[in-house]
Amino acid sequence: MQIPQDYIIKSDTLSGKIILVTGAGDGIGKVAAKTFAACGATVVLCGRTMAKLESVYDEIEAAGHPQPAIYPINFESAAEKDYDDMCNALEDTFGHLDGLLFNAADLGERTPISNYSVSAWLRCIQVNVNSPFMMTQALLPLLERAGNASILFTSSSVAFKGRAFWGAYSVSKAAAENFMQTLHDELEGTTRIRANSINPGATRTAMRAAAYPAEDPETVKPAEDLMPAYVYLLSDDSIGISGQSFHHSQ
Ligand code: NDP
Repeated sequence: MQIPQDYIIKSDTLSGKIILVTGAGDGIGKVAAKTFAACGATVVLCGRTMAKLESVYDEIEAAGHPQPAIYPINFESAAEKDYDDMCNALEDTFGHLDGLLFNAADLGERTPISNYSVSAWLRCIQVNVNSPFMMTQALLPLLERAGNASILFTSSSVAFKGRAFWGAYSVSKAAAENFMQTLHDELEGTTRIRANSINPGATRTAMRAAAYPAEDPETVKPAEDLMPAYVYLLSDDSIGISGQSFHHSQ
């Protein structure tokens, strides 16, 4: 599925919304957090490296956008109670949640299954699959309290067709797609929460460079090019759209 052609981001497209972005300190998540703030959202910057989150916080504040919040967490080690604590903290501060962007991911190893380290496999599945499950479960009450909440999962082309040597990452992205569909099927009709996924396609970030070290980063699009799609899917303009997989053109 594609977003409407020539979708224009406006400074009030996300006005008044509370949106949590995982992996907000770097790459696509950093650009998404700054863009959502520029569209009027109060962004909860969620990630593991405090210095990076603070830097994004400072940029948003300096630009005069709504004051963001920082929620540090490491998805590799976080357990059920940590997500309950997150829910309580967000409830105390904001009372509800309008948007949830699952963006953080672990790349795992690029190696044959026969050589794949078990610890790397478990870490990748923990960060990319188990953590979004626990966070969704904890945050659903806050999302239900919002008028029209949107959950956006980040997919990948390897989610739709497994690829040699991509191991746990490939499996985790297929799981994220199915989780999105399962969630959509459960929530449709009984809540106003929608769930969709987006495959950003090749994007100039540290993860892309790690996966394709021989590639010239200048040949790959910047994360800014993705933002109309991300804003659209978190804004009220996409109300009524749920259970869909979006693919950004390269
Ligand atoms: P980056 O590696 O640039 O950023 C990933 C972010 O996730 C970082 O902020 C990182 O934190 C955070 N993160 C990773 N592990 C953890 C953890 N254990 N706990 C908390 N935070 C964590 O990746 P991209 O921006 O490229 O990727 C964003 C999303 O897009 C991912 O879901 C990825 O799979 C997907 N994607 C990207 C593509 C691309 O070409 N770039 C293509 C297809 C999909 P820290 O900065 O502290 O490391």
